[in-house]
Amino acid sequence: MKRKIPVGILGATGMVGQNYLLLLQDHPLFEVTFLAASERSAGRSYESAVTGRWRMGEPIPEGIRSLKVHTIGDDSAPYGECALLFSAFSANKDETRRIERGYAAAGVPLVSNNSAHRLTDNVPIIMPEVNPGHLAVIGEQRKREGWERGFIVTKPNCGIQSYALPIHALKSAGYVIKEIITTNLQALSGAGYPGQSTLDVIDNMVPLPSEEEEAFREPQKIFGTLKDGRILPEDDLRISSSCLRVPVVHGHTSCVWFAVEGDQPSLEELEEALCHFRGEPQELLLPSAPHPVIRFTRDNRRPQARLDRDRGKGMAVTLGGLQKSPVLGYRFTALSHNTVRGAAGGAIHTAELLEAKGFLDMDKKIL
Ligand code: NAP
Repeated sequence: MKRKIPVGILGATGMVGQNYLLLLQDHPLFEVTFLAASERSAGRSYESAVTGRWRMGEPIPEGIRSLKVHTIGDDSAPYGECALLFSAFSANKDETRRIERGYAAAGVPLVSNNSAHRLTDNVPIIMPEVNPGHLAVIGEQRKREGWERGFIVTKPNCGIQSYALPIHALKSAGYVIKEIITTNLQALSGAGYPGQSTLDVIDNMVPLPSEEEEAFREPQKIFGTLKDGRILPEDDLRISSSCLRVPVVHGHTSCVWFAVEGDQPSLEELEEALCHFRGEPQELLLPSAPHPVIRFTRDNRRPQARLDRDRGKGMAVTLGGLQKSPVLGYRFTALSHNTVRGAAGGAIHTAELLEAKGFLDMDKKIL
């Protein structure tokens, strides 16, 4: 039997945590051995802790039901047996930073869904198809912090997943893109459970101003270049973004307008760049890597959240509506699954990349 890598989940009882448990069930590399949540769940078996609030369409995985839930941040809990922790808990940013740093200082690497560390120097925001090279800053991060084995890696806001990947595909085909306008239509599950009140979202859309800054700062960092062990953000990339919560259960949609500098490509040339894009995860055959990662469609009535969010097991980006535009030059609409590609699936994908690149402690493999 193949030896697996023990991993833990901080925030295991939440919406993202529950997704982790299903996505990691039968994962070829990882096995969940440690669970933690807030004090209200701690000390109980997982099954008891989520009684009445298990929100997934499949039952709790068999091996997880009786696992004990520990308190997030409790130093005496046996998290040290894990080669990696996935962090998806809801606390304020200062508290989140303190807790995540505590685990890294204690020697355990973290892949975080939380926003708290995304803009911290030397903490990369990893999209495995886009910037796998940014993992190189882990060395500088450890040196600065004095951490020997631990480190923190984040994944981006779920709202930018849908457009950052196609923009990267076009950039890597040689097109220079410095101006982007997006409208991000974010699904209800992006706010966790129970999330927004039904009275707010039935027959309505709710602006999310707090997401708008992240919508340009994070891509600037993700597309940034490496210099002397640091990530230099692409400061001259200008993104103007509106974000709205919409009455869709899962699947974030981005309507995108963008300018290409220099010669103006034909739509066929852009289509070819999008359809042929392959990232390092596709080359490395990482278990969660969709093939192809961008599902291009000429059907102008797609993408649609209900029809397209599960493509590539929720890890693909579906892109349609590629057209010339009188504003900025070009436009498209792209969709990805916010709790899979945008949360637990994206973080597992990053962990697979960490494993492939030798960043995980293989002494911690279990039988
Ligand atoms: P959620 O359903 O509200 O779950 C929150 C989790 O955090 C639960 O396990 C909860 O434990 C724990 N928790 C709550 N307050 C805490 C505290 N003060 N200290 C420690 N743990 C606490 O939220 P979610 O949607 O899973 O989101 C979790 C994180 O992922 C958030 O930072 C969110 O921004 C991020 N995220 C979410 C999505 C998405 O699509 N939903 C996408 C990307 C990123 P109890 O059950 O014991 O209360």
